[in-house]
Amino acid sequence: MPKKTIAAIDVKNKKVLIRVDFNVPIEDGIISDDRRIKAALPTIKSVLDRGGSAILMSHLGRPEGKGFEAEYSLAPVAKRLSELLGKPVAFPSNDCVDDKAASAVKAMKPGDVVLLDNLRFHKAEKKGDPAFASKLAAYADAYVNDAFGTCHRPEASMVAVPQAMGSKPKVVGFLVEKEIKYLDGVLASPAKPFVVVLGGAKVSDKMPAIERLLPMASAVIVGGAMAYTFLKAKGISVGKSRVEEDKLGEALRAIELATKTGAALHLPTDHICATEFNENATDISIFSNEVGIGATYMGLDIGPKTQAAYADILKKAKTVVWNGPMGVFEWPKFAGGTKAVALAIVEATANNNCTSIVGGGDSAAAVEQFDLADKFSHVSTGGGASLEMLEGKKFESVAVLDEA
Ligand code: AMP
Repeated sequence: MPKKTIAAIDVKNKKVLIRVDFNVPIEDGIISDDRRIKAALPTIKSVLDRGGSAILMSHLGRPEGKGFEAEYSLAPVAKRLSELLGKPVAFPSNDCVDDKAASAVKAMKPGDVVLLDNLRFHKAEKKGDPAFASKLAAYADAYVNDAFGTCHRPEASMVAVPQAMGSKPKVVGFLVEKEIKYLDGVLASPAKPFVVVLGGAKVSDKMPAIERLLPMASAVIVGGAMAYTFLKAKGISVGKSRVEEDKLGEALRAIELATKTGAALHLPTDHICATEFNENATDISIFSNEVGIGATYMGLDIGPKTQAAYADILKKAKTVVWNGPMGVFEWPKFAGGTKAVALAIVEATANNNCTSIVGGGDSAAAVEQFDLADKFSHVSTGGGASLEMLEGKKFESVAVLDEA
């Protein structure tokens, strides 16, 4: 069932408690990447423009949960948000549920914005504590979940707060609505060919997604370090490449599952390798599967033949889901495979009416790095949350919200 959205509720003269994901990188008080703040603006503006007031709450990093820690304060976010909204953002207290916070919320007028400080200064947040949740719920007339990056976590602000709202409206914000539409909705009946691209460091992280998506997919393309666990399982020499020895059996099972379901499971056939895990490595060679990777080398990117073969498959796709880079994309010498895959998906999106979804985390960082982010149908803002949604998990934080 689709969830009710913020657009569907009357917010005039109402106080709306919005769980946002303002977990942004901050160093010495400076926010180096404000994308998560910008992603929440449509929901916040929708409340303000319709005569409501917005109480914003978020976590930031991993404080101990024993009270205020300056390093994890959301104060710099209040400043940045105020610049982005072009209006004052009140930041009344370093404790989200003390008297100062409560009286600031009580005094709010339509159009006002209050940002509460880091929810995780209270251990109760991580524990999902109902008493803590009731205090937050009491602030408002309606609750909005627009924190996609945290949707897979059953923390108090995600589950116990909407539960404590009782019969008051509890809805999704525009960001969460869009994430669900792509990560869940598109996968309900993907246009074919449906190609899944999986990469990154660890095969263990991606195995549940592989198992769920293989039966639906036309093809699964594998790259990144996780490919070496598959290749080793098949008896191919992988030299010093990163391998999860305890996952060789699971890799073989996935290969068998692909045979059963009829999906093509593509593994790299050549590799860009170096003798050391180093950005400035100079001893770089390309090895194919026929000869195997030399004993003193490790695979750090997919090779040119693999890049071309993967690009060919992707350009013909009608639906693509991509999670995890093809190599160590952070280093220019080993970024070529990830870029080739990104460009092929962009081409399919532009020329083949393909719906393209980039799972968050490192693949989202890669497409940002290549300046291609706006050329995909959807780039998810959640790493862990988007992967869990691709695994088909249902989130309690979404289930608890009102249906449309
Ligand atoms: P993940 O978080 O599992 O998506 O993994 C992303 C990380 O995997 C990135 O930091 C990449 O640099 C790294 N990575 C990708 N390919 C390789 C490889 N062949 N060897 C080692 N690390 C890799």
